[in-house]
Amino acid sequence: MLKDYYKLYINGEWVESESGEFFETSNPATGEVLSKVAKASKSDVDTAVTAARIAFETGKWSRFSHSKRAQVLNKIASIMRERFDELVKAEILNTGKNIPAARGQVTQAIEDFEFYAGVALTSGGRTNPMPNNFFNYTLKEPVGVCGQIIPWNYPLMMAAWKVAPALAAGCTVILKPASYTPITAYLLAEICTEAGVPAGVVNVITGSGSEIGPYMTEHEGINKIAFTGETETGKDIMSKASGTLKRVTLELGGKSPSIIFADTEIEDAVNGSLYSIFYNTGQSCEARSRIFVEESIYEEFLNRFVEKTKQLKVGDPFNKGTHVGAVISSSHEKVIDDYVKLAVEEGGTVLCGGSRPEGKEFANGYWYLPTVISDVTNESRIAQEEVFGPVVVVMKFTNEREAIEMANHSIYGLASAVWTTNHAKANRVAAKINAGIVMINSPISAFPGTPFGGYKQSGFGRELSLETFDLYTETKSVVSYVGEKQLNMFGL
Ligand code: NAP
Ligand code: MG
Repeated sequence: MLKDYYKLYINGEWVESESGEFFETSNPATGEVLSKVAKASKSDVDTAVTAARIAFETGKWSRFSHSKRAQVLNKIASIMRERFDELVKAEILNTGKNIPAARGQVTQAIEDFEFYAGVALTSGGRTNPMPNNFFNYTLKEPVGVCGQIIPWNYPLMMAAWKVAPALAAGCTVILKPASYTPITAYLLAEICTEAGVPAGVVNVITGSGSEIGPYMTEHEGINKIAFTGETETGKDIMSKASGTLKRVTLELGGKSPSIIFADTEIEDAVNGSLYSIFYNTGQSCEARSRIFVEESIYEEFLNRFVEKTKQLKVGDPFNKGTHVGAVISSSHEKVIDDYVKLAVEEGGTVLCGGSRPEGKEFANGYWYLPTVISDVTNESRIAQEEVFGPVVVVMKFTNEREAIEMANHSIYGLASAVWTTNHAKANRVAAKINAGIVMINSPISAFPGTPFGGYKQSGFGRELSLETFDLYTETKSVVSYVGEKQLNMFGL
């Protein structure tokens, strides 16, 4: 099903990288090599930028009528539906995530294209109130050629979050997937062409992010960089983009809190918090990795949470009963383990997990057991730094004000959750949390149409929503004087 070799996808064709160099992509659950992938260098970036620039300037996409754009976006979605099983399988092979996670993410990627088909049809400029004899309308024009750089945790869904709104707005794109997970981005490129996206509008290139990423960021031929990934990489992008004053949107890391009030249904809060951290093997930007529990139910919540964590089935991602799949790489497994060791040095107690699982099926891949840590302070590094793995810290609070202070004590501000049966309290707390997303009694939040993005060092810009469409457009204001007698402002 997978190809032996994925070349670069530029101008509607598979092309060899100029250097002929390639790298290998593998299955993190088994360590097996899946395919070779072309390694782009700077000259390949130039080729892709030229293709995207020509496609943009000739207007072969940007001047398509809105209804035609919507038709093509819907067609992409329908081809993805036809190829659903293939996309799911490729995603599982390349990431080690379990079947429900992969199916859910591919489904959402499809729905993103459908959502932005609707947005393409219905979005436009507006007219504004003006003094007599003046008329003003605005145009929403595509921002141009967009460099889109994405991470490995949700490869196809992140590609959809980027490509769909850009296409809806009339932009052309150069998508750079993460080196660990290039395969479904290439499948998407192929699907776009099949659906009728003209050559050069969607280009996909792979290669070392630290080499070609900065080159894309500084490139004069690129108008915008839309980035999702680590906060440190985002800072590098922001500084390098200043030379050309590129438009930048940054979707970065997080250390998101869950606040569990004593009046909650404990069982619901336990189940919800379990999914909030261990979904996708904890490799989620919005993972609620800090749980704050009100003092009076702390012991009970913690005991039940640890009990259920121990019941999670870690193993073969293709096994129907698996809850938690592999982690992305050997080096990432080490990062996770080092964080757990650090937590112990900081006085933490590991209540479950804290190591690789044992057994033959785990011998060759990269794995980490769901891990619950208590007895750390909110100031400790384990409670402040993003682990990006199946590791959660549980702490207690005494009152609402303290809970909010503890939740907000973070350089990040991506997601958050509040568990209570008191809706007035839930909404009062939601208003005081410094984060782009608040979930009330819900383990999930990302649906097409709901803005997704962060406060503080979790970045800026919003994905998945109408706001995103705006971020792929420039607003042009057109002012006409329509009075009968022409104006003579200097009176000469
Ligand atoms: P990463 O290391 O920052 O890499 C992300 C992408 O940037 C990859 O394609 C990478 O290429 C490329 N890259 C690396 N260095 C670069 C540079 N100097 N300039 C430009 N691009 C560069 O992130 P990751 O490890 O893939 O992903 C995990 C992070 O993503 C976590 O922090 C997570 O919270 C965040 N994330 C955020 C969201 C959100 O919506 N806020 C969603 C998902 C994930 P290579 O792969 O070739 O290195
Ligand atoms: Mg990284």
